[in-house]
Formats: sequence, structure tokens, C-alpha cells
Amino acid sequence: MVKERTRILIVGGGYVGMYTALRLQRQLKPELKRGDVEITVVSPAPYMTYQPFLPEAAAGSISPRHVVVPLRRVLDQCKVVIGEAKSIDHVKRTATLTTLATEDEGAGAEQITYDELVLAPGSISRTLPVPGLADYGIGFKTLEEAIGLRNHVIEQMDIASSTRDPAIRDAALTFVFVGGGYAGVEALGELEDMARYATRYYHNVRPEDMKWILVEASGRILPEVGEEMGKYTVTELRRRNIDVRLETRLESCADRVAVLSDGARFPTRTVVWTAGVKPNPILAATDLRLNERGRLKCTAQLTVDGTTHAWAAGDAAAVPDVTAEEPGKDTAPNAQHAVRQAKVLGDNIVHSLRGEPLETYGHKCVGSVASLGLHKGVAQVYGRKLKGYPAWFMHRVYHLSRVPTFNRKARVLAEWTLAGLFKREIVSLGSLEHPRAEFELAAGGKPPHDPKGSS
Ligand SMILES: Cc1cc2nc3c(=O)[nH]c(=O)nc-3n(C[C@H](O)[C@H](O)[C@H](O)COP(=O)(O)OP(=O)(O)OC[C@H]3O[C@@H](n4cnc5c(N)ncnc54)[C@H](O)[C@@H]3O)c2cc1C
Repeated sequence: MVKERTRILIVGGGYVGMYTALRLQRQLKPELKRGDVEITVVSPAPYMTYQPFLPEAAAGSISPRHVVVPLRRVLDQCKVVIGEAKSIDHVKRTATLTTLATEDEGAGAEQITYDELVLAPGSISRTLPVPGLADYGIGFKTLEEAIGLRNHVIEQMDIASSTRDPAIRDAALTFVFVGGGYAGVEALGELEDMARYATRYYHNVRPEDMKWILVEASGRILPEVGEEMGKYTVTELRRRNIDVRLETRLESCADRVAVLSDGARFPTRTVVWTAGVKPNPILAATDLRLNERGRLKCTAQLTVDGTTHAWAAGDAAAVPDVTAEEPGKDTAPNAQHAVRQAKVLGDNIVHSLRGEPLETYGHKCVGSVASLGLHKGVAQVYGRKLKGYPAWFMHRVYHLSRVPTFNRKARVLAEWTLAGLFKREIVSLGSLEHPRAEFELAAGGKPPHDPKGSS
């Protein structure tokens, strides 16, 4: 029984935010009904993104809508606010937010007060001061980026097919990916596979005309699947004519030329940056304790260290890994931990409200699966190593079992089944990004200029 009315504020509607809210909604049903508890979820988007499906969304194997889960539908007992937390004063139990309404009205940020805080804003791309990166780089963390990249790749093929200038053609068909973690490798693997397939519909673009380059600063890729499977992935990608450069860094991409630390230079219109993540900058605008890497310093019970009534998990939180052999290690920022931490976090808030002892979070990662394109993959699960079709199949089964809600599982399965019967989708809908262009032209206005020159 909760003692008094409690306002729970959850910042972030991703893995941790959505799963924590779901857990609380289930565990606190009577309290929510009586109005003893109120749960508010603040998220910039009205949906949770299932990030492991972004590479397949980019390849056109899953529709963008099926990669996301609508927060309002699944969190029907919570108040969902579309906005962003800008700062948090935990001593005063106050968060400063901007919402769609405050932006629309030109009003300043608004403040809301809470009793329990869950901070789950995740991470953002970790960039380096590489010349040209801010102007030409493309990230791969959001649905918008994944679909934008798909459209961009197909548009480059269209440009290459119609230009008479060999330099433009060469740059359009050169695709540079920086970072050999699973986001970069899966995105490259899926997009190269899609583009290779698409060439059959171009009379003058052949697979061997394209250059796909993977640049990785360390000596290995895909550390998540272990050393042996990482080596296999390098061999497999090279077999597909993908230029994998280990122990190499991107030094510049100014003027649309990718310059690498090994001296190579590639004129290109596509630089995809997936070289790691860093904690969300909102964390620095709180009065909560951060570690040296800027993540919230947490306890194994998922409370923020040094305070009360503040909780965190996922990419934003440095949670001690109680299963690690060496002491002092934190859990890795991945979905496996985020989902499981959210469950314990939700339960611990309920325990704390009911005056019960808290649970300790502990989970040993059992392995990883990665897709490298249609029917191609690599996996290491419970020490078992898989490659090729079996790994790809396992990747699909695993993620189908993990994607939230029965609705999304059914839709994704239906799409995969239909894709087996029909040809792959190779259409680019880049014009969706400029829905008024046609009408502006008709009305005598100027057509919009695309500063990235993607089309
Ligand atoms: C392409 C890709 C593939 C991946 N594949 C895998 C995989 O196969 N296996 C795996 O284990 N992990 C994978 N990951 C990593 C995994 O997705 C993350 O570790 C996980 O999403 C972390 O969960 P989170 O809740 O901490 O953050 P997120 O899920 O990123 O959620 C954070 C949320 O907070 C919101 N937010 C940000 N700032 C604010 C603010 N100021 N106010 C309010 N809300 C805010 C964001 O919009 C977002 O909705 C992948 C990641 C990517 C990018």
C-alpha cells in the first residue's frame, strides 16, 4: 500500500523509459486507479524505437512504422508529454521542460515537480572534431537517420546512373562507414546488400562500380560477438568486396573527401558515423552525481548514488556489474541490460513506495547476434558460434521475440513473410522530406535547396 500521493517523472521514452513505465503501470494498477500515484513520461518522440531493427528498416525489410512502439497506446495509464527535459534540480524535485506546445507558443520552458525521478535519456553519438564531419556526416541512431540514409543511398545510385561526370559518379558510389560496432557493421552490411540487389534495376550501375568502406580505429570489429566471430565478419565483408580498414581513423571529410589516417583519400557524398556513443548532455544539467565518463553514478539497486528518490538505468547510467570477475566494472550500454534493468528499476520503485527492501540488478550477457544483410549473419550465444544463414535466422528469431508488443511482432513477421514471396523494395522516398516542394513550385515559389546536396 503506497502511503501518500506520489508523482513519478520518467525522462525518456526509449527502452528504459517505456519498460519502466510499463512495469509501474502493471504493478501499481490499484494505486493509479485511486489517483494515489501519477506517472508522467517525457519523451521528444511519441514512440519508443526498437534500435536493433534500424539496419533492417534502412534496408527496406521492415517498414519504419513497425520499428517503433506508440507510447500513448502501450502506456494508457500514464501521462505522456512530448517534450524534452532541459535541466533537473533534484534538491527541489523540479524538472524544467520544453514541450511541443511551449515551442509552438514561443513560451519559455515550464517546470514540473515530482516525488520520484527516473532518468533514462539514453546516449547520443560520440563525435570527434574531424573537419567536415558536422557538415557531411550522417548518424545511425534514430529512425529518421536510418530512413534518411536509405533514401540517400538510393538517390546516390540514381545520380550515378544519370550523370556524365565520372568524378560525380565515383563520389556518389562511394560509401564510407566509420565505426565497427554492431550499429556500423549491421548498417553497412544491410545497405550494401540492398544496394547490390538494387543494381539489377540500373542499366549502367554494377555492384563492382560501388565502393563500400568500413573504417575502424581498433584492430577488430564487432567485439560483441567475440574475437573469432569478429575475424570471420572481416573475412565475410571482404569477400563481398567491402574494403575493411582496421587500425585506421577518419581524419577529415571536408569538401566531401574522406581522408583516412593510412593516407587513403575517397571523394564521397556519404560518411556514416557510428563510432560509439556518449551520455546524453541533459545529465550534465542536473545536480546528480556523474562518473568520469559523464554517466550517472548508480548503485546496483539502480538508485542514483549519493541521493534518494532518483533512479536511472540504460545507456545513461553507470551501474556496477555485480556479475563481473574484475571489480569496478559497469554494465555495458546495450539493450540486453536496458530491458532487464528497467524491470528491476520499476520493481524497486514499487518496493521503495511500499517500504520493502530493494532488489539488486545482476545479469551476465549471454552473447550477441548481428545481421550482415539478407540471409547473412554472425552470432555468439551461450558460447556457441554461428555464422551465415543459421546466425541470420537466429538474429531474426531473437529480435522477433524481443520487439515489444504482440502487435509489432505480428506486423514484422507478416512483412518478413511477404518479403519472401515478393521482390525487395528499392524505392527511395526522399521527397517525403520536402512535402511542400511540389506545391511551392506550382504556386510560383522557389524549390527548396538541399544543403547536403543529397539529391
Ligand atoms: C543501430 C543500433 C543497433 C543496436 N542494436 C543493438 C543490439 O542488437 N543489441 C543490443 O543489446 N543493443 C543494441 N543497440 C543499443 C541499444 O539500442 C541501447 O543500448 C538502448 O536503446 C539503451 O536504452 P536507453 O533506454 O538507455 O536509451 P534509448 O533507448 O536510446 O532511449 C532514450 C530515450 O530518451 C529520449 N531523450 C533523450 N533526451 C531526452 C530529454 N532531454 N528529455 C526527454 N527524453 C529524452 C530519447 O529520445 C529516447 O527516446 C543498438 C543501438 C543502435 C543505435
